[in-house]
Amino acid sequence: MTTENEKYVYDFSEGKKELKNLLGGKGANLAEMTNIGLNIPQGFTITTSACLKYYENQDQVMETLKPAVLDAIKRLEDKYNKKFGDIKDPLLVSVRSGAPMSMPGMMDTVLNLGLNDESVKGLAEQTGNERFAYDSYRRFLQMFSDVVMGIELDHFEEILNAYKAKKGENAKDTDLEISDLKNIIREYKALYEKEIGSPFPQSPQEQLFNSIDAVFKSWNNKRAITYRKMNKIPNFGTAVNVQVMVFGNKGWSSGTGVAFTRDPSTGEKRRFGEYLANAQGEDVVAGIRTPKTMTEMKEEFPKVYDELMSLMEKLENHYKDMQDIEFTIEDGELFILQTRNGKRTPTSAVKIAVDMVKEGLITKEQAIMSIDAKSISDLLFKSIDDKADFEVIAKGINASPGAVTGIAIFDSDRTEELKNKENMDVILVRPQTKPDDVHGLYASVGVLTQFGGKTSHAAVVARGIGKPAVVGAQDVKIDIKNKQFTVGNTIVKEGDYITIDGTTGRIIKGKVPLVDPELTGEFIELLDIADEIKKLGVRANADTPTDATKALEFGAQGIGLCRTEHMFMAQERLPVVQQMIMAKTTEERQVALDKILPMQKGDFYDIFKIMKGKPVTIRLLDPPLHEFLPEFTELLLETQKLKMTNAATDEELKEKEELIHIIRTLHEENPMMGLRGCRLGITWPEINEMQVRAIFQAACEIKKEGINVKPEVMIPLVGMLSELKIVKDQLVKIAKETIDHYNVDLDYKFGTMIEIPRAALVADKIATEAEFFSFGTNDLTQMTFGFSRDDAEGKFLPIYFERGVMTDNPFEILDQEGVGQLMKMAIQKGRDTRKDLKCGICGEHGGEPSSIDFAHRIGLNYVSCSPYRIPIARIAAAQANIKNK
Ligand code: PEP
Ligand code: MG
Repeated sequence: MTTENEKYVYDFSEGKKELKNLLGGKGANLAEMTNIGLNIPQGFTITTSACLKYYENQDQVMETLKPAVLDAIKRLEDKYNKKFGDIKDPLLVSVRSGAPMSMPGMMDTVLNLGLNDESVKGLAEQTGNERFAYDSYRRFLQMFSDVVMGIELDHFEEILNAYKAKKGENAKDTDLEISDLKNIIREYKALYEKEIGSPFPQSPQEQLFNSIDAVFKSWNNKRAITYRKMNKIPNFGTAVNVQVMVFGNKGWSSGTGVAFTRDPSTGEKRRFGEYLANAQGEDVVAGIRTPKTMTEMKEEFPKVYDELMSLMEKLENHYKDMQDIEFTIEDGELFILQTRNGKRTPTSAVKIAVDMVKEGLITKEQAIMSIDAKSISDLLFKSIDDKADFEVIAKGINASPGAVTGIAIFDSDRTEELKNKENMDVILVRPQTKPDDVHGLYASVGVLTQFGGKTSHAAVVARGIGKPAVVGAQDVKIDIKNKQFTVGNTIVKEGDYITIDGTTGRIIKGKVPLVDPELTGEFIELLDIADEIKKLGVRANADTPTDATKALEFGAQGIGLCRTEHMFMAQERLPVVQQMIMAKTTEERQVALDKILPMQKGDFYDIFKIMKGKPVTIRLLDPPLHEFLPEFTELLLETQKLKMTNAATDEELKEKEELIHIIRTLHEENPMMGLRGCRLGITWPEINEMQVRAIFQAACEIKKEGINVKPEVMIPLVGMLSELKIVKDQLVKIAKETIDHYNVDLDYKFGTMIEIPRAALVADKIATEAEFFSFGTNDLTQMTFGFSRDDAEGKFLPIYFERGVMTDNPFEILDQEGVGQLMKMAIQKGRDTRKDLKCGICGEHGGEPSSIDFAHRIGLNYVSCSPYRIPIARIAAAQANIKNK
């Protein structure tokens, strides 16, 4: 409730920039600029606290406010020697909202408040400028009616445009004569009365308090609430700024404009701005006339120009950031109405940060903190040229960033064929993808699916290999049989060009011009600064030599997760892998494994060679084996068809039936909790043995070539010490044998992935055998919540978000309260046993800034993420160190 003596109203001269939460961004800056002696039209700010209290007791707050506001008005009257509502020389004010954070959706500005039918005449007489007075009144009527009273702006525009049209085809507002303005005012007032049911308020006090009330109300309008929810902005409340008017519409020696101290799109150090003479308020941004440039200002207003240039310098040095300034020129005198840290593109953010460090304006830490780590990803991927003409036909989930154009192909084999034979850019379009689509995903330039969420197969693979993906586009109806998809009446056939934008989820028919990412020199410099500051290591999740090369290029300090199953999925390897799975005896299985071993060894050899002695963590086979086999129903149908058409030999049919039998035997009700990870290794030890042989043979050969190598073997899905011990003992033996055989000195480790809650609970025991821990937070999240991730994301999580059961998707933003606590405990317990135990995170959270911050706080040694997220992780890791110092 309102405390009686709480101060709700601050004159600009009483505030300062540190009071941003109380006075809002605008109010705090107006106060700050007043304090540093700039030419600011004076005024006062009503606090955000008053706004919050307003929502507890509206009448009481307005009653408490009234005398304080009238006192503040009185101080302005004294200062400017004018009276609010005076019919001869009225004091006029503007009313603006101003939250602590920039908030679209809040109330727009009301200018020229205080005018009425009588004082407009006084203003005309006093200034000797009748046109100006009536233009100001016309604007006030329009703004108040629209912004405060909610009358459709279009109705006013219609009236205004009708008068402009009478002046000629391309007439501007400045072509209107005084008589026109008077007529417009008459029509505006009639419109107001018709819409509201009472005449336009003539009392300046009533105008003012209605406006203040409207600002408070706008804090909780639907647009504002949605925006706050989406951007996780707390319920700060908004401040209200009341400021004495200065006039840019007083004639041709007046004007209004906006200026930036650096170019907001490129970050170049050049003053940038636009202005209009004889104009007010939003005229510049509203585009009613084409604004003029700073070069033109130098000609037209040389004195003002010089003054503005030096003010810009002063403001930038004071705020130590690029400023976005609003100014007004009244009769040749420059006034600053607002300054704030300017919004900027990711490219300019990077350039500005690096340049300012070089100029000695900010520290390296401040430069790093000025970057929005997430938006950096825009610099690493192509994007759609938003200036181009295009029509978005549907939207899906933005699963892997970047935009790409290609022909739509509905089948993975065909995708691979078109890539290999004709080097075509293909977008693979599937209802959803499965492991046997991996070759299609690799051959494509991007993927579009109708079903699945951000952790669907298509999404995970695409992110891993850095290809754009839009998934779960429910409006895209895919007809595989007829090789086409439809969205409403739009049909896209095989071979038609489409464009997908994995950054935003947009789907477009046809080609669209794309903009290349810019890896500027400054970007590299910024990342070097981040490396100087960060404590966390940054590694990559990389399974191929191409990934490893990319990872190094982006600054990875090692590979934190090499998922070997991806090596099994290559099209030419699948038959041998299937042979391995279907073997009836150990001997038969060994024949297949002997064929796979040189392939795996080749993969590891290439990766080790590229990584040149940086640690490479290789995970032994993890997924359930059915993932490598054809889809059961499809196979069943195919076999049935073959039988009915006599299209296959007995031998072929027998093979198919055996396959059906095997898939049936491997079927599990819940494969994610079934025979996978180390359970697979305990059941079929020879698969792990083959992998370890391949790893150590490759490592020893590299070592023999004089190149350093550091393999780390990761045994996945361990929940009990005994599991780890059995598998490890068996594999260490093989590692040692291989090393002895090559007779080299090799630095290697065996460790595990903590991804089952039980493993975290008994981490002290696990650490007796594990030489490192890497948290698999994807599975750890699944198992801690008991959510099956694909089902959860596709089905009930959206409902959870909608109903407010949870706000963040725990598969994207690490759940610090639950999963995170398990991690923290596991690290502590693990280090109780093994003091120098190295711990990392290799689930997808490893590339997400808030999770990286948490990883830093709980003492992890490194994070591991997709190569394409490494720059984000480097910056986020540096930010974590600065924030938590
Ligand atoms: C994990 O579970 O977090 C993990 C890295 O393994 P995967 O995503 O391959 O299951
Ligand atoms: Mg896992």
